Amino acid sequence: MKACCLFSLFSLLSLQNLLGQKVVLNEAGFRMEEKDRNDIEMLAQYEAMIYNGLFNTRKNDSLLITINIYKKFSDYKKACQETGYPMLSRTGFYSPGLRTVFVYKHPGFMVTLVHEMSHSFMRHNMSNPPRWLNEGIAVFFESLSVENGQVSVTTQPGRTAAVKRELNEGNIHLEDFFRLDDGAWQNKSTLDYMYNVSYSIIFLITKTNPDITKRIILALKKGYDSTRAIESVYGSVGAFALKYRLFYQ
Ligand SMILES: [Zn+2]
Repeated sequence: MKACCLFSLFSLLSLQNLLGQKVVLNEAGFRMEEKDRNDIEMLAQYEAMIYNGLFNTRKNDSLLITINIYKKFSDYKKACQETGYPMLSRTGFYSPGLRTVFVYKHPGFMVTLVHEMSHSFMRHNMSNPPRWLNEGIAVFFESLSVENGQVSVTTQPGRTAAVKRELNEGNIHLEDFFRLDDGAWQNKSTLDYMYNVSYSIIFLITKTNPDITKRIILALKKGYDSTRAIESVYGSVGAFALKYRLFYQ
């Protein structure tokens, strides 16, 4: 009887394991602390839940997320070179080809990790997402943290204040922003601006009506470009830009 119960318990645990979020952590040059490992798994589960909601699916629950994490910067740098990635980021990146997150274990590595993990989920759900959406959601997740066994997400006042400043200086034109191609993300001097504006778009939509993100994603999946996707929900990009200005100013 005892053996039978044990077996049932074992089957149940294996089943949960089989259905649960799969995070493979490849640690280079160190051993991840148990607490960090558990936090990463909880954060991955949280992101999976959000992506399930956005894409109306359950597939993210069982998605394999592979994370290579390097203690030494030299090892991280070598990995960048081996994957053929120019060193765009000194802290981490996601390789869609290898379906792997690469992170240098710097003091704030968890922020990088949740950001890059988001790219992993996004690419599993949409092969070619617009950059503002992909980065906006990834930056949104940067403020995720685990406290007392609970995942919480906070706002990022530094980014929203920067957006307010840019708006006051007349530097944000969403009609143009939604039309930018990936080349706009190669300029290091405006990268912060790009991340802040992308984040602020996602933040505004999530704060006012989270369902709208789903509708925009649905339109993008139909093949609409960003402008048409925004139009399909707000009527025009101008109407959205007005909402945006009122929200942040
Ligand atoms: Zn990113």
